Amino acid sequence: MKQRIEDVGEFLKENGIKPSYQRIKIYEYLVKYYNHPTVDMIYRELVPKIPTLSKTTVYNTLNLFIEKKITAIIVIDENETRYDAGTSVHGHFQCNECARIDDIDIDLSKIEIPIPEHYEVSEQHFYFKGKCSNCN
Ligand SMILES: [Zn+2]
Ligand SMILES: [Zn+2]
Repeated sequence: MKQRIEDVGEFLKENGIKPSYQRIKIYEYLVKYYNHPTVDMIYRELVPKIPTLSKTTVYNTLNLFIEKKITAIIVIDENETRYDAGTSVHGHFQCNECARIDDIDIDLSKIEIPIPEHYEVSEQHFYFKGKCSNCN
């Protein structure tokens, strides 16, 4: 879910990432739009401002963010990996018509999930698909 970050450079440093200009811009994109973008979406938005940017850099930077746990991967889309700066547990709703992905607030204390004993959960994903309010 959305979190406000005042100083992206400082935030990256706190998470053990050297805050280069490109990394700051990429993280800023994630927290500015919260639109669960693909590598392409980030690249297309930033390349006019950073002509030296490559898709590989965007991809590698996102992987670094994932390694440092400040970005998560959403696998709701079969065709493309989507990235999320919201790393707390929440669900996602993808519209089948316009493909937008919205956050869904999930209160885990209200759902009973029968994980067998002695199993350890390392990731939780909640996905919903259908039609968003604009398309409905
Ligand atoms: Zn829609
Ligand atoms: Zn999300």
